[in-house]
Amino acid sequence: MLRDTVVQVNLGVLADNMKKICEMVGKGVAVMPVIKADGYGHGAVGIAPTLMEQGAAYLAVATLTEALELRTQYKDYPVFILGHTPDRLLPIVVEQNITQTIFSSAQARILAEESKKAGKKAKIHIKVDTGFHRLGIDDLQELKEICSFKEIETEGIFSHLALVNEEENEKQVKKFLGIVDELEKQGIHFKYKHIADSIAAVDYPEYRMNMIRPGALVFGLRSFEKGFVDVEQAMTFVTRISQIRQVRKGEGVGYDYLWKAPENMAIGTLPFGYADGYPRNMRGKGYVTIKGVKCPIIGVICMDQCMVDLSGVPGVKEGDPAIIYGDGSESTMTIEEAAELAGTNKNEIVARISARPPREYIK
Ligand SMILES: *Cc1c(COP(=O)(O)O)cnc(C)c1O
Repeated sequence: MLRDTVVQVNLGVLADNMKKICEMVGKGVAVMPVIKADGYGHGAVGIAPTLMEQGAAYLAVATLTEALELRTQYKDYPVFILGHTPDRLLPIVVEQNITQTIFSSAQARILAEESKKAGKKAKIHIKVDTGFHRLGIDDLQELKEICSFKEIETEGIFSHLALVNEEENEKQVKKFLGIVDELEKQGIHFKYKHIADSIAAVDYPEYRMNMIRPGALVFGLRSFEKGFVDVEQAMTFVTRISQIRQVRKGEGVGYDYLWKAPENMAIGTLPFGYADGYPRNMRGKGYVTIKGVKCPIIGVICMDQCMVDLSGVPGVKEGDPAIIYGDGSESTMTIEEAAELAGTNKNEIVARISARPPREYIK
């Protein structure tokens, strides 16, 4: 490790999470873990083998670049793009055997032509807009047209919930199933039908259909409310003290001296900052844990470093480990707490961790 600031990923926890999710949904439901945004900060390529071993039906990502990163490492494993791939790049999707989300007959036509040229059958899942109004269509005629291309395999059909409330969820699911029903009446059938992300997969068993798309849940980030599955946080974000300084009462620390020492005391400089993806707005709220003691971050969080109050830590020395995000034990800050303090959600806290801190995989 060329840095002290490291994202540690516990692959045992990740495997257990995936196992528990598969057990929760049972045999008839395929699990497609979502590992976009570099595996929610955990490192997509590093965690993929663990998910494959646990029987992931697909590895799902948001973009073509993310898909190609996986494809380069894992030549044959099913890879799925949840997002839009521009028309000009669709030939790459065919060439690399990537399953693509599509939402227009124009896209289907391009994939059909490319399939013919390449002598293979591109796989697609059609995205239906049931109310979220992000990607998708709800026009039956166009949906039928997409399904009419013999050169491509329309393997699945899916939608996404806005998760407004139970009533709105129900409306979306009804609309989705109505469209699927209509197509099936015309003799069009899909291997996979899916609408549930992490929260819906746990809270609404009836929405699992025969595939779920959990992201956060795989990493042990719990946002479900009604249901339960015992997943655990797989990530720990750690660093070490670079330097300890003694400051005198009244002296300022950091840019603009926005923090001033209330008394003579020890402060520590830590080698992580907002360029590592730590929220800069944690000023005045964030803390790290050193020797089981919460050490408040003091002053402005810099791009590469920040300072903490060490006055409560007996016998602290340079090089001592500090936990940035832990599992909550020994007074560490969980990703959930970080999200609350930074005023965002758990997914953003992990997704924003940048490529700079190395990922370390623990078996
Ligand atoms: C990101 C994403 C998911 C996973 O979301 P979580 O809330 O992390 O489970 C599922 N489906 C789609 C379409 C997504 O974009």
